[in-house]
Amino acid sequence: MSAFFDVPNDIVFDLNDNASNSCDPSVPYLLTPGPLTTSDKTKRAMLRDWGSWDDEFRAMTANMRQQLLAMINDKKNEFDCVPMQGSGTFVVEAMLASFLPRNSKTLVLANGAYGQRIAQTLTYLKRQHVVIDKGDYLPPRADEVQTTLANDPAITHVIVVHCETSSGILNPIEEISEVVYAAGRKLLIDSMSAFGAIALEVNKIRYEAIVSSANKCIEGVPGFGFVIAKKSEFEAAKGRSHSLSLDLHAQWDTMNKTGQWRFTPPTHVVAAFMQALAQHQEEGGVAARGARYANNRDVMVAGMRDLGFETLLKDRWLSPIIVTFFNPADEKFDFHTFYQLMKEGGFIIYPGKLTIVDSFRIGCIGHLDSNVMQQVVQAAADALKKMGVASAVPPQKALTERAKLLA
Ligand SMILES: *Cc1c(COP(=O)(O)O)cnc(C)c1O
Repeated sequence: MSAFFDVPNDIVFDLNDNASNSCDPSVPYLLTPGPLTTSDKTKRAMLRDWGSWDDEFRAMTANMRQQLLAMINDKKNEFDCVPMQGSGTFVVEAMLASFLPRNSKTLVLANGAYGQRIAQTLTYLKRQHVVIDKGDYLPPRADEVQTTLANDPAITHVIVVHCETSSGILNPIEEISEVVYAAGRKLLIDSMSAFGAIALEVNKIRYEAIVSSANKCIEGVPGFGFVIAKKSEFEAAKGRSHSLSLDLHAQWDTMNKTGQWRFTPPTHVVAAFMQALAQHQEEGGVAARGARYANNRDVMVAGMRDLGFETLLKDRWLSPIIVTFFNPADEKFDFHTFYQLMKEGGFIIYPGKLTIVDSFRIGCIGHLDSNVMQQVVQAAADALKKMGVASAVPPQKALTERAKLLA
């Protein structure tokens, strides 16, 4: 690894701080799907200022783009990677506005908040679209996508969320990709919360573009996202975007010509991201990152089930990113109190986002391992005890609803 993004020696510390959260142990772990818990080394990489047009920062940007591209194993050199300022949603919007022609029609596969947000973005962008909405529990499947495409020849593009972070469902993007390309259409993927932990190699799955951001599975801090897409898509996007700042063609073109971001880049965030990438590689890349998260999930889910909690999803659809649990039926259970007790125990959890039943979520991603997950389960057990909840079994209503929907 070249030295230009190394932080000064006096603030370098142990890289193997896998089970420690922060220099300050009173700071709780974030069991949330981004922002998430980052390593000390990543945080400390932000303690220096960078000139955005300076050679060193430009080299950093180029190196970052190469490392991200390397993760999709693009042997034919067909793809390019372009970072864009903003949170993930900004970059999804940039992708949609740049890659969907004005006369396109998009099939949105929704099963949660992020799929719905894509449809909402298309409404803002005045791009024609139809939605298959599967609710909270179910993945979109190849057969229904195939039927919809066959019945509507006007559809040019399909967009799917890789891991729908609102429920934690891992959508079957491989089978969807197959039917999309068999029908001669194009696929875009919101892989925000999966990229870096779940493989997206272009020789194994076909797509035009994917989008992700700094503060998810690469374990950086928030501030920018990135699109990895076919060069032909960046080329074709010229003049298409409604937005000056979100124009991916312009960002791509300028970056390739000058090495610079068009407008002020989040320099410290990029420096932190370079550290996060180095640690990703050191850990063993996408496969190792995914394996750690899967182990985090398995340890946490097993422990929570021992306490009586039930997952919203069947094991088959449980992502290694985030898991949704039903709130317990016991009337002494109160989510706000549970949240506060978990926080006092050192863990920030995430409220649920379901429409039908009450739930909460626990993330498995970030700079944490299965030892931390065991402590999470212990903290949950302690919190239940303090509330006087004997068992975390969910209400019958939740289970019946789920059974009905899964039938
Ligand atoms: C995090 C996330 C986004 C982007 O959300 P922001 O709050 O804008 O960063 C988009 N899609 C999915 C699936 C996500 O998990």
